Amino acid sequence: MTRSARTISQVGSYKIPTRKFKIPCDVNGNPLRVSEYYGENLFDFMKSEILTKQDKTDLQEILCKRKDLTKEMAEKFANAVLNWSTNKGATHFTHWFQPMTGSTAEKHDAFLSIEGGKPIEKLSASQLIQGEPDASSFPHGGSRSTFEARGYTSWDLSSPIFLRSHENGKTLIIPTAFVSYHGDALDVKTPLLRSITQLSKSATKFLNLVNDSSRAEDEHTDIDVSCGCEQEYFLIDKALFFQRADLVMGGRTLFGANTSRNQQLDDHYFGTIPARVLAYMQEVEVELYKIGVPAKTRHNEVAPGQFELAPIFSSANTAVDQNQMVMSIMESVAVKHDMICLLHEKPFMGVNGSGKHLNWSMGNAKAGNLLEPTSSPHTNYRFLAMISIICEALNRHGGSLRTAIASHSNDHRLGANEAPPSIISAFLGDTLTKILDAYAEGKAYKDKNEGFLDLGADELARFVRDNTDRNRTSPFAFTGNKFEFRAVGSSQNVGVPLTILNGAVADVLNDANEIIEKDLADGMSIDESLIALIKNFYSNAKRVVFNGDGYSQEWQDEAEKRKLPNLKTSAEALKLIVDEEVNLFLTKPGIYSTEELTMRYNVRVERYCKHRHIEFRTLVNMIHKDILPATIEYKGMLANSIDDQKEVGVDPKADIHILKLLNDRTNSLYEKTERLKTALGAMGEEIGDVEKIVSEWLPLSEEMANDIAYLEEHVAEDVWGLPTYYDLLFAK
Ligand code: ADP
Ligand code: MG
Repeated sequence: MTRSARTISQVGSYKIPTRKFKIPCDVNGNPLRVSEYYGENLFDFMKSEILTKQDKTDLQEILCKRKDLTKEMAEKFANAVLNWSTNKGATHFTHWFQPMTGSTAEKHDAFLSIEGGKPIEKLSASQLIQGEPDASSFPHGGSRSTFEARGYTSWDLSSPIFLRSHENGKTLIIPTAFVSYHGDALDVKTPLLRSITQLSKSATKFLNLVNDSSRAEDEHTDIDVSCGCEQEYFLIDKALFFQRADLVMGGRTLFGANTSRNQQLDDHYFGTIPARVLAYMQEVEVELYKIGVPAKTRHNEVAPGQFELAPIFSSANTAVDQNQMVMSIMESVAVKHDMICLLHEKPFMGVNGSGKHLNWSMGNAKAGNLLEPTSSPHTNYRFLAMISIICEALNRHGGSLRTAIASHSNDHRLGANEAPPSIISAFLGDTLTKILDAYAEGKAYKDKNEGFLDLGADELARFVRDNTDRNRTSPFAFTGNKFEFRAVGSSQNVGVPLTILNGAVADVLNDANEIIEKDLADGMSIDESLIALIKNFYSNAKRVVFNGDGYSQEWQDEAEKRKLPNLKTSAEALKLIVDEEVNLFLTKPGIYSTEELTMRYNVRVERYCKHRHIEFRTLVNMIHKDILPATIEYKGMLANSIDDQKEVGVDPKADIHILKLLNDRTNSLYEKTERLKTALGAMGEEIGDVEKIVSEWLPLSEEMANDIAYLEEHVAEDVWGLPTYYDLLFAK
């Protein structure tokens, strides 16, 4: 195939294939406001026509966990859901869960039931509450033998039920947790919910301890953990995608010569969104709005062909479910636009990869956001104590946070000189760092220029906010009133890093609470206690604070001096999952059991190896099917031309030179391919294999990629059959 056929969308006369879709309209065909159809496919029991006022009050009590769900209430709820969803055209329901594969799983059941020989629609309380998918086909890390392969899904009341629309109908989606017969969590959600409970408990206690009011109505009963996930992705033309086996098999190109122009001019970031892409983004947003996902921001990202979607943040558990839906809808809508949405962390070499910034904070309506700098001295002590506590959480558990984001695909980003490094540090900005440094030394902070004397100055809020500049190189940055965990990979289920983060902060908060309780009992004022706490915790945690360039060698050296863990690859990071000492902060409060961690370790090691195995086999296959045939053909053409020229007495100097170079590279590639093939036969699924892959086979495959890039650059365009980066990244 020739270039002109491949990149047809770039030929002048070609019309950009912008897809028109059905925008929600009123009866007169006028477009509705988003607020008029937002959440229309989200079940809201408060709006149910068949639940009584008392039912609704009862359900609210149940959702606030002040009451238990009774069989009778579940029956009523199931009926209301059935009524609502069938009115809207749904025919099936599914328990939707998040197994350890990293994506989601669903098995659809029809509402149809035959009773007394008659067809009816039915959703019973037990169908709503519990499902029993065959757990043996999901990763379980060797936790159960097949004879007890039963697993249960159970309805997660804290995440809303919604309808997913397909081309030809709708399915009712019931978010659920997935556990084994013995109660082990087989999913991402269960430990996440446990971690939210732990953090909420310890943060509520902290709030009540620092509360300067003794009135009962000022007592805090709960805090909410919030999360907003900025999702990066690439879009490529569907026809080109299917011509590259590496993209189809593993979601990334295993080789490719860089284009002369890529991202060096920084002209794509925030540039005008291409028409075809904008049409796509709009359809994604409409789909998301219907199910109540508040998509807010859309823009071009740094690399050509790369974009981002960010929602308004929400409650952590819901945000995780929503992010799974965002990824799923982004993928399915892309196909309708004849494009493929790539969520892989590193689809292309030489240009930026994709991450998913996990924005995180906590608070409640009464106390506000605990990460918000305020204007009164007392609440500022609370704020600074909170920041010190979070830094200490990073200091103690940075290794585990690194481990939470380890995967074969994210390994290509972390530490690869573009994404956050694999050393987990915190960026606080200069002002906040100076303030905390002063506290650590037992002094009040003074700023020369602004001339304010104490932390009490109203200026703090403004000051801190203005000074948390956008340091893009930090894996964990304070950005005004939230922390942003930037090292998370674009394809990952954020529930995993979120669980570890919640657990880490809860761990330090528990210690802080104990200290404060003791201080208060010893007669200290709460402000005195907080000041002492800031001093102690921050002094200890300071080593994780770094405001400079996280990509620099300087930081690597400095981090080594500070003895910060630098787990460069999954081979090093995954081992931590089964380190008992390291995981006490997770096992003691029951966020994960030791058994559950072992399962996750086995699953992740196995998945790492399987993914690499697929990549290596695909690479070998493409070399034999595509690369070598093209190269050999071109070499033949050169050889013939050399003969022809010699025959007429012309010196084919350049041709001979090119042929020789091509031949050397081909031989070199062939030799490496043989080596990789032999290695493939011996590759297993143990941690030792991960180590071998990381240290030997992956570097070998990268050398092969270099050889291929060279060949790609020297073989004639018409002969090189595969779509190149030029085609993939610039076809709009
Ligand atoms: P950036 O400059 O990092 O790209 P954006 O404004 O695009 O920032 O995205 C920030 C993300 O953080 C959004 O998803 C937003 O909803 C979320 N966010 C904002 N405030 C909070 C908060 N207090 N807690 C959690 N997430 C938040
Ligand atoms: Mg961000």
